[in-house]
Amino acid sequence: MAALAGQLLNIFFPPKCEVCGTIGYEVFCRKCLPQVTYLTPSIFFHAVGEYDGVLKKAIKRFKFKKRKKLAGPLGMLLVEYLNRHLWKNHLDMIIPVPLHTKRLSERGFNQTELLALKITEHCHIPTVSGLLFRKRDTKPQFDLPKQQRLFNLRGAFVVRGKKLIQDKNILLLDDIYTTGATTAECTKALKAAGAKSVHILTLSRTL
Ligand SMILES: [Zn+2]
Repeated sequence: MAALAGQLLNIFFPPKCEVCGTIGYEVFCRKCLPQVTYLTPSIFFHAVGEYDGVLKKAIKRFKFKKRKKLAGPLGMLLVEYLNRHLWKNHLDMIIPVPLHTKRLSERGFNQTELLALKITEHCHIPTVSGLLFRKRDTKPQFDLPKQQRLFNLRGAFVVRGKKLIQDKNILLLDDIYTTGATTAECTKALKAAGAKSVHILTLSRTL
């Protein structure tokens, strides 16, 4: 029955690429996907690609239009990226940048957590979401002038369950890197809680 309903849905609403609209079964089609160019890594900061072109379109659809199925192909970009770099072998856990509970209930999901779970599925590094919290509902960073962004986030993150973080090598994951204020604040909280190292990986970086 569910299969039949699915078939009917496909007839009336054929699946298509979230970026260019090409009809087919790929949410991120074969024409669009190769347009993502991988950036070269530095030591503690890594971004898969620039927040531009198809990657930007796909992330916006994923995050703001709530197209959850894009977590698959977007997560695979992170997996691909990680597989190219050996440092992933010493990571103990992935911590996705948390959303405030208010924003989480508005969106219904933490987009970064969905991406983290995709990495877990393929790289066997556990995703741990219950340790880092956003205690203040901060304004969206992109709405603020540069100087106010750091201030906006000061003390916004807190770690609960410090024992589990002690001496751990953490991969801190985010979707968009803008000024680095968010990941810097998270890193500070994780280090203060005893983390051995914090590596930042983001799906994209703004130009
Ligand atoms: Zn496409």
